[in-house]
Order: sequence, then C-alpha cells, then structure tokens
Amino acid sequence: MIHVVTSLAPIEGAPAADGSDCVACGRCCHHAPRTVHLLESDDARMGKKLLAIYTEEDRSPPGWRFMKNAGNRCAGLDVSTPARFPCALYAVRPEDCRIVEPGSPCCLEARRLGHLGSSVEFQRTA
Ligand code: SF4
Ligand code: SF4
Repeated sequence: MIHVVTSLAPIEGAPAADGSDCVACGRCCHHAPRTVHLLESDDARMGKKLLAIYTEEDRSPPGWRFMKNAGNRCAGLDVSTPARFPCALYAVRPEDCRIVEPGSPCCLEARRLGHLGSSVEFQRTA
C-alpha cells in the first residue's frame, strides 16, 4: 500500500546549525509509517517502557522494530502545543533520527517539502 504523507507548510531557508530551529519546524518527523527503524542499541537506550509506548515490531521477516506513526507523523512527536514540535523522547531517540542533522540535504529537503523526503537513506543492518 502506498502511504501519501500530508505535508506541513514548507519552510524557507536553512535552519540554525545548532538545532535551535528544530522545535518550531518538525518537518523531518513527518513521514510515512515504518520509516524510522531501531537498532539493537536503540532498543537498549530506549528501554522497555518507551519501546512499548512508541514502537512496534514488524511481524514479517526480518522483524524490524519501528517507531509507531500517528497519522503522517512519528508518534514520538509532542504536538500538544500549536506550532511546536518537540520530540517526546529526544534524549533516547533512535540513530535514524540522529542522521538528520539540521542544515543537511535531507533536512533542507524536509523543510522544502513539509515532510521527510527520499534523500535520507537509513542503513538497515541485520
Ligand atoms: S527538518 Fe531540519 S530544522 Fe526541521 S526539525 Fe528536522 S533537522 Fe530540524
Ligand atoms: S523519535 Fe523523535 S526525532 Fe525521531 S522521528 Fe520521532 S519525534 Fe522525530
């Protein structure tokens, strides 16, 4: 099934390199389901309680664990305050999320599209 990601409004220009614009942006945390996968090291850092709340296991082989989605965004995104997009589990977020550096090509693409685009390549190792 093809999942169409609804965009937020595009954001012009590059963000601050220190990540200070990220909470007001959140575009790269908007994506199709089963986009952010977890490594074993991510599982260990996140711990059982957060894994149970925010992640799900794909039943088909090889059985990857992914962040759950809430519609067109990651379920870990705290949308309780309008126009603010903090990650509810920022300190223990998966490696996939750490790959998307502010100002990187995939960040700029996400800001231009209003959601994570196809330029980010997550390495899925067995
Ligand atoms: S798209 Fe870029 S600026 Fe926006 S939240 Fe992601 S890393 Fe931060
Ligand atoms: S875990 Fe946090 S940083 Fe990663 S996609 Fe979800 S909300 Fe964004």
